[in-house]
Order: sequence, then structure tokens, then C-alpha cells
Amino acid sequence: MTDISLFWHRRDLRMEDNRGLFAARASGLPVASFFCFDRYILDRLPELDRRVGFIHHHVSRLSQEYAQSGGSLHVLHGQPLTSLKELIAVLRSRGQKVVEIHTNRDYAPYPVRRDLEVAQWAEDQGISFSLHEDHVILPPESVLKDDGTPYTVFTPYSRKWHRVLESMDGVPLDTVDSLEQGSWASSPLQALPTLQEMGFDEESGNPEGWTAFDHALQPDTIRAYAERRDTPSIMGTTRMSLHLRFGTVSIRHLAALGMKHSEKWLTELIWREFYQSILHHFPHSASDAFRPKYDRIPWRQDEAGFDAWCRGKTGYPLVDAGMRELNATGFMHNRVRMVVASFLCKHLLIDWRWGERYFAEKLLDYELASNVGGWQWASGSGCDAAPYFRVFNPESQMKKFDPKGIYVKRWVPEWGTPGYGAPIVEHKFARQRAIDTYKAALAEA
Ligand SMILES: Cc1cc2nc3c(=O)[nH]c(=O)nc-3n(C[C@H](O)[C@H](O)[C@H](O)COP(=O)(O)OP(=O)(O)OC[C@H]3O[C@@H](n4cnc5c(N)ncnc54)[C@H](O)[C@@H]3O)c2cc1C
Repeated sequence: MTDISLFWHRRDLRMEDNRGLFAARASGLPVASFFCFDRYILDRLPELDRRVGFIHHHVSRLSQEYAQSGGSLHVLHGQPLTSLKELIAVLRSRGQKVVEIHTNRDYAPYPVRRDLEVAQWAEDQGISFSLHEDHVILPPESVLKDDGTPYTVFTPYSRKWHRVLESMDGVPLDTVDSLEQGSWASSPLQALPTLQEMGFDEESGNPEGWTAFDHALQPDTIRAYAERRDTPSIMGTTRMSLHLRFGTVSIRHLAALGMKHSEKWLTELIWREFYQSILHHFPHSASDAFRPKYDRIPWRQDEAGFDAWCRGKTGYPLVDAGMRELNATGFMHNRVRMVVASFLCKHLLIDWRWGERYFAEKLLDYELASNVGGWQWASGSGCDAAPYFRVFNPESQMKKFDPKGIYVKRWVPEWGTPGYGAPIVEHKFARQRAIDTYKAALAEA
């Protein structure tokens, strides 16, 4: 029987600069790797889901990379702990005894619960279970106020983030060569489950075209970010969110580019860490208002308004363009996300949770911490949120960020013709209704 180390891939579908894989390889034991298509998550998704297509494509690519380097990636479809137990038993029957499991830490509520369960089981079996920091530069516990409490406002968080990094001589930015040392525990594999076998439409495919990887990571793109980022008609942002979501790119690589070429872009990466920190320290904010009194707002149960918003039929061109872009591609520009979210919570007075759920279904880059953070920011209920009386005017937003209607025309071809519907709610009326409703709810004892 040979002792081996098992590395478990989750939101880190790459071999390069992978902290957990590096640690497994540094253990000195031969390493086998594992990925589980998690039924707890997948069984809730519709048959056609491009995120599953994206993951499937990258797991398949990863599996080939393992084969090329002499290793093996075992891919199972099931409940993670059950699949782990199954794999460990199979490896044992082949003379390979898993004595340690390494994986990268995920800070969201479900993965935390899952990892606690696995850690407990591993301990009972005498297998060591180690979590490594790979998804963020600085994990939630390392950026705290001087009194040890978490930040709830972005600017001081961001200042502290820089100070902590400096105090560590930038070490968290160092990349690792996961393949440099160690050996593989190679063994025969089961075939990768197909999309169809897992109950998904083959059409789920891989939305690779969505991301212009090469373009995005050019120094020129990043240098031009600050001036181009707010124009939805151009490719002015990097579209790295999907890759960060599933770890097909290393955050250290991106942060180093930001440090070199654009402070503004680096700040966006820090927003991502800020929201992860908020969700970690305030897990209730995943479903409740971060500021509890905002849960007193009497949201309208307006199914018809919600349906018009979802379909991009509100009569407000920028809102409609954003929602149609989301429905067609799974992406929406950040500026437009802010406008459509504000429109739902303020103009229609619909609960931010309805919008958050809709985005969760549709966004390829859906990520709980940033999505909840973005929605609570727009509804006013979050930490460091837009004040409740700030109600975006969708027409002025369009004049400012899409003055020639290039973006709008792309998604709403009938805009400017008699075929385009009238606004479902009048701006001035809706703005005043939102301010009055919020004010009354927040004033209650
Ligand atoms: C209502 C709402 C919902 C959102 N939901 C999500 C979500 O589910 N997943 C998600 O990744 N982002 C979300 N965002 C944040 C942001 O819109 C996207 O990260 C960004 O549009 C992705 O495009 P990009 O990769 O081209 O970003 P770039 O502008 O190139 O930024 C680089 C990276 O920085 C991070 N980033 C940028 N802006 C933000 C931000 N405001 N908050 C947190 N991180 C940020 C992302 O990881 C992004 O990939 C949401 C924003 C709003 C207003």
C-alpha cells in the first residue's frame, strides 16, 4: 500500500499557480486529484445552463493537462462527501492509501458547511484535511480594523488591505509553481461524465466566446480601464469575473497586473475581496438586509412589473438593453447592472431578493458575495450602500454612458420606433414613491 495525497479542485480549475495543489505536491507524497460535479448545486439548475458547460469544458481541459503531465484527475458526479468516500475506497483497492486531502478554501456559506462535514469525516478516518488560501489575495480574517472587528465601509477596508500587503512584503502576491516538485499517483480513470449523463442539454456548451481572455489581459487594456470602464457599448472592462468565479485564472496574476498598470482596476479586485469579507463576517446578509431596518420596507408584490423587468420590456431603453443582454449572453456591464438593480428596487419597489435570485439564475459570473453586495448596494440596505434617496434616472444614465444609443440599439432594435413600448412607470412619480416609502419605513421605531 502506498500513502498518497489527494488534491480536491473546486473553484480553481487550473494547475498553474494553485496554492492547494502546490501544498499537496510539496507534501512529498504522490498526488492524485479529484473534482466532483456537485449534485447539491447541479440538481437545482435548469437543463440548459451555460455555467455547467463552462465548468465541463474546463474540467475536461484540466483532465487532459493532468494526463499530459503524468497525473490523473478523478471526476465524479454526486454528493461531494459520498464521492470522496467512493474514490478513496477505489484508490485503496488499487493499493493507494489517501492519508491527506488538500483543497482551496471557499468562504461562502454552503462550501463552509460542506468542508466542515468533510473535515469531520476525514478526522474520524485519520486523514488530514487542509484548506489553503487561493481565491483571494487577503482572506477575510487578515483585513480587520485595529480593534479586531471587520470593516463595513470600503475605503478604509481598501487602505488597510494595502497596508497589510505591504507589511507582508507583498508575499501574498507571490505565485507558486504547482508542478515544479513532487510526483503523481497515476491510476486508471473513469471517463469524464458527459453533460447529458448529468442531465444537462449538450447545448449548454462552453461560453468561451464570451470572454476575450487575450484582449483582457493586455497591459494596454488594463491601462485604458479607468477611462473605458463605464461605456457599455465597448469592451472596456476585462470580463475576468467568470474566470475568477471558477478559478480558471489566478487572482495573484491579475492583482500583479493591476498593481503594475491600473490602480483603478486593482480597486475593483479589492471590492471583490471586500464583499467576500462581508459575507464571511455577516453571513445573514446573504438573505437579510445588512442593515436590518431596511427589511421593514413594504416591497410591492408586483409580478407584472417584475416580469416586464426580466424580459427587458420596461420602456426604459438602458434597463431593457441590460436585461436583454443578460438573457441572451449571461453577462451585463457593471454600470448597467447598477441601473437595472436600482430600477427594480426603487422605481418598481420590488424586493432586491427577487432581482438577486434572477441574476443568480442568469449571470455566468454569478457569485453570492458580489451579487448580494451589488444588490444590497443598489437597494440601499447594504454596507456602504447608495443612500436611499439616490434614485438613478435611467434616462440621464443613458445620456451619460450611452449618449448615441449604440449599446441600447444593439439589444433593443425597436427603440426609437413606434414599436417600442411606453415606460411602465413614470420616473418622477416612481422616484418620489420610492423616497416616501423608504423614508416612512426607516423612520418607524
Ligand atoms: C447588482 C449587481 C450584481 C452583481 N453581481 C455580480 C456577481 O454575481 N458576480 C460578480 O463577479 N460580480 C458581480 N457584480 C460586480 C460587477 O458588476 C462584475 O464583477 C463586473 O461587471 C464583471 O465584469 P468584468 O469582469 O469585465 O469586470 P472588470 O470591471 O474588468 O473588473 C475586474 C474584476 O473585478 C471584480 N469586480 C469588478 N467590479 C466589482 C464589484 N462592483 N463588486 C465586486 N467585484 C467587482 C470582478 O471580479 C471583475 O471581474 C455585480 C454588480 C452589481 C451592481
